[in-house]
Amino acid sequence: MNEKWNLIIDVAACENCHNCTLSVKDEHCGNDFAGYAAPQPEHGHEWIKIHRRVRGSAPIVDVAYLPTTCNHCDAAPCIERAGDSGAVFKRPDGIVIIDPEKAKGRRDLVDACPYGAIWWNESLALPQKWIFDAHLLDIGWKQPRCAQACPTGAISSLKTSDDDMRARAATEGLRVLRPELETQPRVYYRNLHRYTDWFIAGSVFGHLAGQIECIEGAQIALRHADGTRRTTRTDAFGEFKLDCLPAQPGEYHLSVDHPGFATARFDLAVNDSINVGAIDLDRQPPPRPTTPISGLSPPTEQP
Ligand code: SF4
Repeated sequence: MNEKWNLIIDVAACENCHNCTLSVKDEHCGNDFAGYAAPQPEHGHEWIKIHRRVRGSAPIVDVAYLPTTCNHCDAAPCIERAGDSGAVFKRPDGIVIIDPEKAKGRRDLVDACPYGAIWWNESLALPQKWIFDAHLLDIGWKQPRCAQACPTGAISSLKTSDDDMRARAATEGLRVLRPELETQPRVYYRNLHRYTDWFIAGSVFGHLAGQIECIEGAQIALRHADGTRRTTRTDAFGEFKLDCLPAQPGEYHLSVDHPGFATARFDLAVNDSINVGAIDLDRQPPPRPTTPISGLSPPTEQP
């Protein structure tokens, strides 16, 4: 069985500490690994790059960090661009290498990567990228340095068969970046929704036994214009969040139910993750700001 390397990145576990990016610089800046990679310049290259996304608005905010790098694609556009030159090749273990000799002068390879993972080394006239630490794995290392350096376990590597990796991805909900490109990446993401998807959140309060209270256990129902329906309940702080919504503008209908209160209903025009704010179950309709897009539009008529 031919086992190949894969990288698994948990977006929910990345804390933006940059130990992974520093480990790559420590390994490659000033170091020449013949046949694998020429030295990385001290400035300007991010062979592992961490992106940040902020979703929602105070007080319900979600910040996610997304480390990106060469995906070591099985259908790699960079290899296709290199053609028969041998400037870029895939090893039997799945790792893609830009040959530091044959790729000299091939600036066109930078544009061949749809993920922006190839960097141009001006002084060496060479395209470069993260090599999965193939030079270390070949002498017995069990994982690349970025996985070793990550203190939260957000990055891990796995050498296994493609069938096993496909099965893991399906059962563990692992996703790849931009699957529509059909490049067959070998870098998988857990909890990618924290970066790519939208959520609708809010909080619920009302009078209980003469006191204004956070309403725990209120039934939240969200219906998309296409008929799909999601439900959840408010937590002990009266908050709710419905995540993993498609990142596409759409019309939603939100209802909030709790015994002792009239049902609150809202129409939402959504074009990003939103915190709809505090919903007062004592007042119908709630006196909150309305915006035609990315927020609450005027409440629908009560039954
Ligand atoms: Fe090539 Fe870019 Fe795919 Fe890496 S991510 S294998 S550089 S196309």
